[in-house]
Amino acid sequence: MNEGTTTRADRGWGLRGRLVPGTSGAGELPDAVVWVREDRIAWCGPAEDAPQGLAEAARRAPLILPGLVDVHCHGARGETFGEDVEGARIAAGHHAAHGTTSLFASLVSAPPETLLRQIEELEAPVRSGELAGIHLEGPFLAEGMCGAQDPAALIPGDPGLLEGWLRAGRGTIRSITFAPETAQAARLVELCREHGVVPSIGHSEATDARVREVMEQAPPGPWSGTHLFNRIAPLTHREPGPIPVLMRAARDGVGSPPGHRAADTPPVMLELIPDGVHVEPELVRWMFSMVGPGAIALVTDAMAAAGMPDGRYALGSMDVTVADGEARLSADTERGEPGALAGGTSRLIDGVRNCVAWGIPLPDAVAAASSTPARTMGLAEVGELAPGRRADIVVTDGDLRVLEVHRAGRPVAPEPARPPDQSGPMAPTGAPETAGSPEPSRTPSARTPTALLPPLDAPARRNPAEEAPGLGEPGAGEPDQQKETA
Ligand SMILES: [Zn+2]
Repeated sequence: MNEGTTTRADRGWGLRGRLVPGTSGAGELPDAVVWVREDRIAWCGPAEDAPQGLAEAARRAPLILPGLVDVHCHGARGETFGEDVEGARIAAGHHAAHGTTSLFASLVSAPPETLLRQIEELEAPVRSGELAGIHLEGPFLAEGMCGAQDPAALIPGDPGLLEGWLRAGRGTIRSITFAPETAQAARLVELCREHGVVPSIGHSEATDARVREVMEQAPPGPWSGTHLFNRIAPLTHREPGPIPVLMRAARDGVGSPPGHRAADTPPVMLELIPDGVHVEPELVRWMFSMVGPGAIALVTDAMAAAGMPDGRYALGSMDVTVADGEARLSADTERGEPGALAGGTSRLIDGVRNCVAWGIPLPDAVAAASSTPARTMGLAEVGELAPGRRADIVVTDGDLRVLEVHRAGRPVAPEPARPPDQSGPMAPTGAPETAGSPEPSRTPSARTPTALLPPLDAPARRNPAEEAPGLGEPGAGEPDQQKETA
């Protein structure tokens, strides 16, 4: 699809097969080549157009996707972002091994000094590239929409505090979820604009008028909506709330007349959690049809239980019980109530697979898990298979089961193989357990360094693609329950 420059088959390595570039509206190529030199994509396009020798030299792969981009994630493998550096690396490594090569670490509401410490803990893995940035999910949220967050940690909007966190993060904070009805919302958004942070509306009970006012009076720039439909005032005919305002902004841009998108309107992106638990498939189909894949970000909102068996976990200061892959507040569960959903337990590729099963065209599902979040969040190097981009590539089989992952042209280490005594039938539908992953202990000495990304200064391997054995991947499966919270 693009001209290479001095690409030659004797330098670099390549893959040939069915390829989805990830660009919204670009569709897919039935027989394509992606050629990698060092950490970059040197050439990508139809095999018949490839520079001489590339198509022949490329290794065959069933399905080639861009590395996925998850902008809302709290952890994995028993680890929660913000606790310590090693845990952040393990959690990021888990998601990377499953195809998410750009991952935001989301921090739930916590006392200001705790958030400050967590931001500082995450700086190293962001600087090393193991994480793509930090997402503050709070603490300026509506108490009535706190979901699984600690209501005691919610505070009114405080620009001084936000500025302190942004300064401490030194550019690592890329987005913040806030409720537009919070105090000094206009100043909070101004600060976001000054620091290149994407404001994301969520955990909100605001009226439609309030949401419009905050969005339209703010300096222009990208917007996001945090896990739309979960922990946001529902759309009703007399109290429309934030949802229709966000959907229209996603389709038309902020402030445009209905149905008339102005040129160069900054993107507005709406998060969806397509795990079959948080949102019904019909709403996912509706969103793709109403705003399109260029305005949707599929996210996991995954917490520590991703890649782990059912059991008890923590989300911030809240105790969470995971049963059949669903994470819910333990306090509710123990009272015999269903309990507020407390994040997800899937990986982003699971969500892409679910969307395809629900009828979303594969290129659209992939775009919503790669180029759309990358573009909105200003991650210019990733999100698409195109010349010049960082060589973040996922190879799957025809059922979107991950076979190998490359980040910056290097193989991402797969997780350890399942010991023989644990091998058995596939995990049940919706289960968070990772194929090939024994249950790791939470003690630091037993942590699994094989889950880590290779360090960025590691020497390049001969043929990276051949060194990553396949990963089994249990399906996230079909939904079975109506859910309302996140
Ligand atoms: Zn979250």
